[in-house]
Amino acid sequence: MSQSFDIIIVGAGIVGAACAAECAEAGMKTLLLDRGVAGGGTTAAGMGHIVVMDDSEAQFALTEYSRRLWLQLRDQLSADVEYEVCGTLWVAADDEEMAEARRKEKYFTERKASVEILDGEAVRRAEPNLRPGLVGGLRVVDDGVIYPPCAARFLLDKARRHGAEFRPGAPVTALLPEGGVAMTDGSRIGAGRSVNATGAWSPELTLGLPVRKRKGHLVITDRYPGFVHHQIVELGYLKSAHSVSKDSVAFNIQPRQTGQMLIGSSRQFDAEGAEVDQAILSRMLARAMEYLPALGKLSATRVWTGHRAATPDKLPLIGPSLEHNRIWLASGHEGLGITTSLGTGRLLADLLLGRATEIAAQPYAPARFANGSVSHG
Ligand SMILES: Cc1cc2nc3c(=O)[nH]c(=O)nc-3n(C[C@H](O)[C@H](O)[C@H](O)COP(=O)(O)OP(=O)(O)OC[C@H]3O[C@@H](n4cnc5c(N)ncnc54)[C@H](O)[C@@H]3O)c2cc1C
Repeated sequence: MSQSFDIIIVGAGIVGAACAAECAEAGMKTLLLDRGVAGGGTTAAGMGHIVVMDDSEAQFALTEYSRRLWLQLRDQLSADVEYEVCGTLWVAADDEEMAEARRKEKYFTERKASVEILDGEAVRRAEPNLRPGLVGGLRVVDDGVIYPPCAARFLLDKARRHGAEFRPGAPVTALLPEGGVAMTDGSRIGAGRSVNATGAWSPELTLGLPVRKRKGHLVITDRYPGFVHHQIVELGYLKSAHSVSKDSVAFNIQPRQTGQMLIGSSRQFDAEGAEVDQAILSRMLARAMEYLPALGKLSATRVWTGHRAATPDKLPLIGPSLEHNRIWLASGHEGLGITTSLGTGRLLADLLLGRATEIAAQPYAPARFANGSVSHG
């Protein structure tokens, strides 16, 4: 075994690339491996919404921290990352959803995140293509969008500038308890520690990991500049898309710099294939047209699917694995891994180096599943 690295990160999606950038910048001798290309896994299938979410205090902490890191990085990002701070507009279709908008407003304001309540008329002015009759909404001012594959490449380049090595086309079969990894060709590469950052595939390398594949569909339209201005999400999303059990669809649309729009989203467990599911796609588009009736007259150019890495408590796994302190995890980011990649990379490097973390790291520690007490719905 050729022992030569402080750390080997397996998986060059946006999470692995962010971890590599932080570790290399901190002076660790870093190797990043991927069986394919950088950013070609779920990262290539994701929507790129940089969004603060509040399903739990820990989710808010990590998403808000990560959004801050994206905003700090903004001026350094290459143009192809297409970072736009367009804000999120959460729209309320009825009084119950408006009550949820007000709850979120209070929650975000108490935590110093910039938000604004809109009544029905203000929503219409902000997004004239939305159907009439919506009760109102909440604008989250500092949320934004990026183009995930180029963001992953940007982070990979940053890691390389700090001395990290990247090997594409390098399939790993095992992370070794003594440090390092075993490759499919039988060779081994030594390291002080290794990190499983293989997202939806992470249970293949860390058996028993509480991560399940959760399939999603996305549609991209032709170019219609100005059709929508914000990332618009229905507040019903919180009722449907975030249930951890049933298949669901929710209205979620994103403007791209090109004038194209990404339309989402769906969530399915027990759907491991990459094929497009016509029934769920139809439900998803019908839902989007309920909110934006004129969408029906536009052209779509492509549909694709991807698999999120879902954990039972909707929080990622960041830190040492349960079994071996030389094997670490950076996985389980579900539908928020583009956003939380930067926070994950920073936390991981801080923990590895024994530095103080800026937010509490304990809620994301894999050790929380030590007793197998939490299960998927
Ligand atoms: C439809 C959809 C919409 C989404 N929208 C958003 C959004 O708007 N905002 C947001 O924040 N997040 C979103 N996400 C989630 C986000 O895309 C993921 O959380 C994120 O991309 C996960 O990145 P990752 O690096 O963990 O995994 P991946 O990008 O999947 O990277 C894992 C890498 O590991 C490699 N690998 C696997 N096994 C091995 C092995 N044995 N050896 C070597 N390499 C291996 C793979 O080739 C892959 O490149 C969305 C996801 C989907 C599916």
